[in-house]
Amino acid sequence: MRVYNFAAGPSTLPLDVLEEAQRDFLDYNGTGMSITEMSHRSKAFMAVNEEAQALLRELMNISEEYAVLFVQGGATQQFAAVPLNLMVSGKADYIVTGNFAGKAQEEAAKYGDAAIVASSKDKNFTYIPDMKTVKFRENADYVHITTNNTIFGTRYTTLPETDAPLVADMSSNILSEVVDVNRFGLIYAGAQKNIAPAGVTIVIAKRSLLGKHKAFCPIMLRYDIQDKNNSLYNTPPCFAIYMAMLVLRRLKKLGGVKAMQEVNEYKAKILYDFIDSSALFQNNVNKADRSLMNVPFVTGSEELDAKFVKEATENGLVSLKGHRLVGGMRASIYNAMPVEGVKTLVAFMKKFELENK
Ligand SMILES: *Cc1c(COP(=O)(O)O)cnc(C)c1O
Repeated sequence: MRVYNFAAGPSTLPLDVLEEAQRDFLDYNGTGMSITEMSHRSKAFMAVNEEAQALLRELMNISEEYAVLFVQGGATQQFAAVPLNLMVSGKADYIVTGNFAGKAQEEAAKYGDAAIVASSKDKNFTYIPDMKTVKFRENADYVHITTNNTIFGTRYTTLPETDAPLVADMSSNILSEVVDVNRFGLIYAGAQKNIAPAGVTIVIAKRSLLGKHKAFCPIMLRYDIQDKNNSLYNTPPCFAIYMAMLVLRRLKKLGGVKAMQEVNEYKAKILYDFIDSSALFQNNVNKADRSLMNVPFVTGSEELDAKFVKEATENGLVSLKGHRLVGGMRASIYNAMPVEGVKTLVAFMKKFELENK
């Protein structure tokens, strides 16, 4: 039985994409071999690489002023790659709204003056600081934000106004809502939440910012080199890029990011509306800052939380255990989670509430 998988990442992928990949697995496009067996310089794979990039450009409306890169090392590698490439004068501002944002700042601090200019740590990251009151430093090389906080379930609804290029970790909300790429100097995202299996990381970088990397920047982390080589400087994560292509094709067919955003808003509303009406379940995030992708909730009793996770699993609703930093439960409802999955979860929560009054 296929379950509804609410894992935060790697996470559920669209069933039709998995089936298509399965059909193609032994013989990709009449080549007589699997996509996992062929040269990354082969015609067949180069076409995949090109199409995946073209689809991402189309879906996110990315101009030629930006490089689109498929790299490895996850979002975590980008925590270092960003300062190594962009911290030209040695100074950057970080807004810390969660665990990953904090890790990004700590990594950058190894390479220069990475200041925390705002944080929501005082309330265990249950809100996004008011962007109007953030004091950015003059002449910072960039300002780094995390647009969706996967563990704590918050998201930015307004972007900071700053002259410095904006750098965003969008690992857990890329392609879930419409974004104006032109507002950013650089966007990066590990693909394993909203796009593909683990293994590929997306980087969208303004070309005018590239080529000013630190002299000791490892060649694999240089955005300008990856751009010149169309992400084929060395062997790329071929299978993950192929899967990304299938997911992007599907997203286009479904009407693109705007259509997906509407579905995501609908799914999130179903879940939040129920939680807000429930006497048992609670979401502790500031309402205006609630994530559309990751919904943490608690019952207030650790025993009851554990019972909920156990019984949900028995009912085909899996990976609902919350992150250890928050406790309770977390439902990750990325693009690939069908509306039916959220409705089934809410129905189960209702039943559980009745049984555990
Ligand atoms: C998952 C996640 C990361 C870490 O991604 P890796 O690809 O495992 O390095 C970083 N930032 C955010 C916002 C995430 O959700």
